[in-house]
Amino acid sequence: MAPPNSSGDPETRREQLKELFVQARGCVRCPELAATRKQVVFGAGNADAELMFVGEAPGASEDEQGVPFVGRAGKLLEGLLQEIGLERADVFIANVLKCRPPGNRDPLPLEIENCREYLLRQVALIEPAVICTLGNFSTKLLRGDPTGISRLHGQPEVIELGARAVRLYPIYHPAAALYTPRMLETLREDFARLPELLAMGAPEQPPGPAEAEAEIGREADFEPATPDRAAGENPADEAAEADQLGLF
Ligand code: URA
Repeated sequence: MAPPNSSGDPETRREQLKELFVQARGCVRCPELAATRKQVVFGAGNADAELMFVGEAPGASEDEQGVPFVGRAGKLLEGLLQEIGLERADVFIANVLKCRPPGNRDPLPLEIENCREYLLRQVALIEPAVICTLGNFSTKLLRGDPTGISRLHGQPEVIELGARAVRLYPIYHPAAALYTPRMLETLREDFARLPELLAMGAPEQPPGPAEAEAEIGREADFEPATPDRAAGENPADEAAEADQLGLF
């Protein structure tokens, strides 16, 4: 039986993650993003990953392919993963925003708020031991504090997200490090500590009171933004859906 602060066994959680993906695909909470995106970039990887990465928002390549971190920053992320003996399929990669902001502008506060529930639900279903936030947006969102990444990078801390405790590990965003050799060096050093953190396993979990479970929005409480099939999305998109679902 799954522990009290778990959303269920891995197979059940994976199925619920797929349902969440279908909900997110039809999301129109942010009218501008819904009108300009090519695809919702839900996230990809191992649905039962110990390690989850949270970036900022999809860029042009991600919007095109429906997969996070497939551009230059993604190649760097993959290289860093390889250096510590991991590959994309071992981890789950998501973003603060599931839709590309036009022109790659910064996510707006309302967009972050609109999308927050999807991310928290992903965390609740994947149950990672370690969440590595990439850059300022995800670090500030998950810590609930405006302290910037340059002060926090490389310093793990245990935080509670919904019903579960996780090891949060903020590091620089790979896109920022692409153009700044010193930042890349720091990113590499911070990354090298990930195996040590993962070896510690999940932090001690809170007792799992009913209030905490309610806070993360269990399946029954989670209000999808739209029906599963929203205007503009139709069952003919099944192929694209299958492609993305196949990733986890
Ligand atoms: N940068 C991000 O933050 N996310 C992506 O998916 C790609 C680039």
